[in-house]
Amino acid sequence: MKYLILLGVVFGLIWWIKLSRPSSTDNQTSSQGTGPQNMVRCAHCGLHLPDNEAVISRNTAYCSDAHRALAES
Ligand SMILES: [Zn+2]
Repeated sequence: MKYLILLGVVFGLIWWIKLSRPSSTDNQTSSQGTGPQNMVRCAHCGLHLPDNEAVISRNTAYCSDAHRALAES
């Protein structure tokens, strides 16, 4: 009988962890993905990339510093 109670406590603990985990991961993903990401197009090769990764020069977006240099030369 003592072991049955212990088994019940262990299963209850596992169930509680399973219930609490998905909600915490949902909160993390929802806080990171706030709204759609703004995409820009490289003026040299036409590649689309997030604007926070783009190289911006003279109000024009480029995918890399090499393409910015090529386009401005
Ligand atoms: Zn490019």
